[in-house]
Amino acid sequence: MIDLNAVPRRRYTNGPTPLEQLDRLSTELNGPRIWIKRDDLLGLAQGGNKTRKLEFLIADALAHGADTLVTMGGVQSNHCRLTLAAARREGLVCHLVLEEDLGPEGDPIPTESGGNPPEYTGNFLLFDLLGADSVDVHPHGTDLPARAQELAGELEGRGRRPYVIPVGGSNVTGALGYVDCAQELLPQFAEAGLESPSIVCPSGSAGMQAGLIVGFHGSDNRFPVIGINVSRTRAEQEPKIAGLVAETASFLELPDVPPEAVVGLGDYVGPGYALPTPEMVEALRLFARTEGIVLDPVYTGKTAAGLVDLVRSGRFGPDDDIVFIHSGGVPGLYARAQALA
Ligand SMILES: *Cc1c(COP(=O)(O)O)cnc(C)c1O
Repeated sequence: MIDLNAVPRRRYTNGPTPLEQLDRLSTELNGPRIWIKRDDLLGLAQGGNKTRKLEFLIADALAHGADTLVTMGGVQSNHCRLTLAAARREGLVCHLVLEEDLGPEGDPIPTESGGNPPEYTGNFLLFDLLGADSVDVHPHGTDLPARAQELAGELEGRGRRPYVIPVGGSNVTGALGYVDCAQELLPQFAEAGLESPSIVCPSGSAGMQAGLIVGFHGSDNRFPVIGINVSRTRAEQEPKIAGLVAETASFLELPDVPPEAVVGLGDYVGPGYALPTPEMVEALRLFARTEGIVLDPVYTGKTAAGLVDLVRSGRFGPDDDIVFIHSGGVPGLYARAQALA
């Protein structure tokens, strides 16, 4: 039904990531059976969901004869770290176009007054260690795609063959990584005896969620894929997910996915992207103390806060199975330790 074999792909992980049951967490919450898909254990430098997207994106770059990658994100971008790690593996040049974080209160700090320079830790430290060919940090609110295109133009002028990867690697090519993940999960669900699980995952640039939705629907499995938004309201996020779902389904020549399959809950963002919430801190501590699982504060921590709230508010009962996607991001934890102190 879905055959990705014709699409060029590189391999950065050996075999499927584990699907593990979190018994102690279920007991602690008096709730449903909870499972975790360990995509924090994917390949490249410290894993995470961008590794799956990059298997298809980098293959596409190579198919286009690219010798240079240009990508963009926040100063603690997991996507930039993993794109850079993939570039090192492939012997490609890699330039990063970054946007400063917001201040702790959620407002931009004007660059004239010193801005909000990134700390030399977490992913930003790893950009240096992995030897990014350039790292440009722009003020918050900069049009990153425009800056990246400009840089690609300059590089072309100097005889390079640049390939621009969008924020979060979220286009159809990147989403194929999570169409593939859905296919990887089906035999794991069968083996674990999960007949109708609900999937809970972070929803940011939406490539992961869109890929999962298309992957399940395209193989006639209508499992709910509940996105927990990390940066937008429900009204802003759902059209974004739906757009990428439609494009990806069309690329794979699959039937349209019904609109009700697209869910991106906006109740757990708090003051904004990457800004901490008390519920995120509670969820990080809960997963760590009950299961020894380390989450990140920007994506999986807020998603876990959403999961805990959905369980406590009775959205899931003891007979339900929830599959939580651990999409990685742990290197960024160390850059935001103050939120937990
Ligand atoms: C990018 C990212 C996400 C969000 O995935 P999208 O495809 O952008 O929605 C979730 N978790 C981590 C750790 C990420 O780096």
